[in-house]
Amino acid sequence: MLYDAIVVGVGGMGSAAVYELARRGLRVLGLEQYDIPHDRGSSHGVNRIIRLAYWEHPAYVPLLRRAYALWRELEAGRREQLLYVTGSIDAGRRDSKTVSGSLRSCEIHSLTHDVLDAGAVRRRFPGYRLAPDMMAVYQPDGGFVLCERAIVNYVQAAHDLGAAIHAREPVVAWDPTGSGVEVRTAGATYSASHLVLTAGPWAAALVPALQKLARPERQVMLWTQPRAPALFQLGAFPVFNLDAPEGHFYGFPIFGNPGVKVGKYHHRSEQVDPDRMDRECHPEDEAVLREGIRKYFPDADGPTMSMKTCLFTNSPDEHFIIDRHPTVPQVTLAAGFSGHGFKFCSVVGEIIAELVVDGTSRHDLDLFALSRFALPS
Ligand SMILES: Cc1cc2nc3c(=O)[nH]c(=O)nc-3n(C[C@H](O)[C@H](O)[C@H](O)COP(=O)(O)OP(=O)(O)OC[C@H]3O[C@@H](n4cnc5c(N)ncnc54)[C@H](O)[C@@H]3O)c2cc1C
Repeated sequence: MLYDAIVVGVGGMGSAAVYELARRGLRVLGLEQYDIPHDRGSSHGVNRIIRLAYWEHPAYVPLLRRAYALWRELEAGRREQLLYVTGSIDAGRRDSKTVSGSLRSCEIHSLTHDVLDAGAVRRRFPGYRLAPDMMAVYQPDGGFVLCERAIVNYVQAAHDLGAAIHAREPVVAWDPTGSGVEVRTAGATYSASHLVLTAGPWAAALVPALQKLARPERQVMLWTQPRAPALFQLGAFPVFNLDAPEGHFYGFPIFGNPGVKVGKYHHRSEQVDPDRMDRECHPEDEAVLREGIRKYFPDADGPTMSMKTCLFTNSPDEHFIIDRHPTVPQVTLAAGFSGHGFKFCSVVGEIIAELVVDGTSRHDLDLFALSRFALPS
């Protein structure tokens, strides 16, 4: 059978892409090397922060508005809540990238927000204990998206539209064939007019030009049972990004797993091969996260409930890569989501489908162009 499009990697981005392509009436095949969902890539661990006050760059805000709308559309179609609004705190010293960038996005895009000093944060949200020289931007639309459930719902919705999706079928090679592509797995060869590569940490294995542009990095998530659980319930504790001298921490209220969930961007700065990564969690991993919890959330510093490794895939400037393949235009790439991509899966699915079907997208993709990097010849 000749497919209109094959999507390699049915994780966060790929599941949304399969759905959006099927929604446009294309014959789609999604190929996933592991189970759907699974815990060996970037999209597991109950939930991911979504926030409008985007400290990384104000250009993300219009995409975020669309991402929120598409998450709500998926929820309505599937009758399942996937997005929870808790409000978001972006905290640190006034000149930190998190606080200054978040304020900039609020001002440029006229987002509702409050600027709070450390005492005001504690009075309003008593789980927080920011240092006296820190401040915070509170934005009421922040919250989290359920990551495994989002993937499950996209796959089920794509099935309803007639998409073919195969788990446990790794793609071993792909080749251009005239204006189309041929994709090989251990037991089959498939043909399509378009290929979409949403392989997350494995992107460079399928596109060697991404070797230095999409680098996998080991991360760890920790859930601790708070000593004062009431302070960390949904409704009492906003999701946070905290730019501290000890590192950039992020976290969530109690939800899904027992305990408060905390992580640290770039954890222990470990570049890894995703097929050989150490997936065990060690006391050294816990120590990195406990340091932040003890200092800034002491009432959450109770017994460990669980720990889990995960993978970032970093681009050199930590902005996404969403573009055509550099030499094969019938191939679309979405990679290098640099630890902040999940909230965008819904809109990235739409962008990919527009690029495949229309050759262009309604969204401004300049920030994500491959041409901003020097490619190996
Ligand atoms: C600990 C942690 C915390 C994070 N927190 C946030 C957050 O709060 N907010 C946020 O927005 N983002 C966050 N992120 C980032 C976000 O989760 C990622 O950007 C996003 O999940 C990336 O999705 P993806 O589809 O690119 O990768 P994945 O979901 O990993 O999907 C790639 C898929 O491709 C498959 N694949 C690869 N190669 C092949 C092959 N050859 N054949 C078949 N299948 C293949 C893989 O098995 C995988 O399922 C976090 C990430 C981590 C690790």
